[in-house]
Amino acid sequence: MVGMGSVVTHDVAPFRLVAGNPARPVGWVCACGEPLAKGEEAEVSPGQPARALACHRCTREFRLDAFEGLVPVETAA
Ligand SMILES: [Zn+2]
Repeated sequence: MVGMGSVVTHDVAPFRLVAGNPARPVGWVCACGEPLAKGEEAEVSPGQPARALACHRCTREFRLDAFEGLVPVETAA
């Protein structure tokens, strides 16, 4: 998802929220469009454990990893 007026100069990872000129990562959004995390809370440094994120709107669950980015977690139906 790209913020209004942003100038994107690099590829944007799945579920990434970018904004600005040049566009920089500012957070993550769910597949339904709901913001999941923003600012420093949205970043995981290499060496830190993956963080679990869940969407409050559609209940999808994700794993935020320093190398893989935001990965959907398959839940048993
Ligand atoms: Zn959602």
